[in-house]
Amino acid sequence: LKKIAVLTSGGDAPGMNAAIRAVVRTCVYHGIVCIGVRRGYKGMVDGDFVEMHARSVNNIINKGGTMLHSARCKEFMTKEGRKQAFENLSKESVNALIVIGGDGSFKGALRFNAEFGISVMGIPGTIDNDIYGTTHTIGYDTALNTVVEAIDKIRDTAFSHDRLFFVEVMGRDAGYIALNAGVGAGAEEILVPEENLGLDRLLESLKRSRNSGKMSSIVVVAEGDKTGKSVFELKEYVEQNMPDYDVRVSVLGHIQRGGTPSCFDRVLASRMGVRAVESLLESRGGYMVGILDDSMELTPLEKAIKGHSSINEDLLRVSDIITV
Ligand code: ATP
Repeated sequence: LKKIAVLTSGGDAPGMNAAIRAVVRTCVYHGIVCIGVRRGYKGMVDGDFVEMHARSVNNIINKGGTMLHSARCKEFMTKEGRKQAFENLSKESVNALIVIGGDGSFKGALRFNAEFGISVMGIPGTIDNDIYGTTHTIGYDTALNTVVEAIDKIRDTAFSHDRLFFVEVMGRDAGYIALNAGVGAGAEEILVPEENLGLDRLLESLKRSRNSGKMSSIVVVAEGDKTGKSVFELKEYVEQNMPDYDVRVSVLGHIQRGGTPSCFDRVLASRMGVRAVESLLESRGGYMVGILDDSMELTPLEKAIKGHSSINEDLLRVSDIITV
């Protein structure tokens, strides 16, 4: 193993820079050349490479986003695109690839490996935490803290004006952010994509807390919540059924993807970066590095993609109890 390429792909996440830094420096430590690929798979198809040195990654451990940029790349979905990417890597004599991204990026990596035999390693970088084989993905912890901080601020104004706020958070397919930030920020109800908790239940809960003297409330809603209603439709629904309640909506949007990575994400990304390179050195390709029980564990990429992680029922129960 002489040359490793690294890229960030799919949605960006705070801590990706810390992972790039760890990959680059582990390569330097072991005497391997590291090539940075700009804009994910697009940079592989276009041959947009930059040689990385220990000092190329100075002052990035504390920065959100990704210094290598990220992109979604249609060409890489085609055989010709991937062939072009392989030829570009071959010209540079790259013999292994580390992909920092979500499950779509891992699917691309697996296919690339199957077609051209180049060793690949995955590092889970996505705020959604929707990857099997790791309890935490890079960026998730920072996103949780961002959401909790934002909801704390919304709570101040909700309280002052006796209002109900529907707060939409990211999560089209997974409710990790909604559920954990919801519990952390003391939300009255949490709507997630995994389970339809029902509109009647929501209404009942809001009426019950109103009757017990609670004048303001926060309801956290994941983008893909299973009631199938948008936050704006939920607002209308509650207004129709509880006409005396002043209801507002706040969509947090892309602030959840940016910002200074938390210490947890920096440490996680550093550990994963080191492990990814060292696994390639041990000739173990085709895996994703994850954290399980505070230990770095490898899961076959195939499994990481197909494995399903489900909603934490106990946390749903905790949320019910502490919002009584
Ligand atoms: P996030 O979960 O944060 O959105 P992701 O890695 O799942 O991240 P995607 O947009 O799904 O993001 O995938 C990133 C890129 O990976 C795609 O733009 C495409 O280039 C490549 N990719 C995804 N799926 C495949 C596939 N089946 N075959 C080849 N390439 C793929």
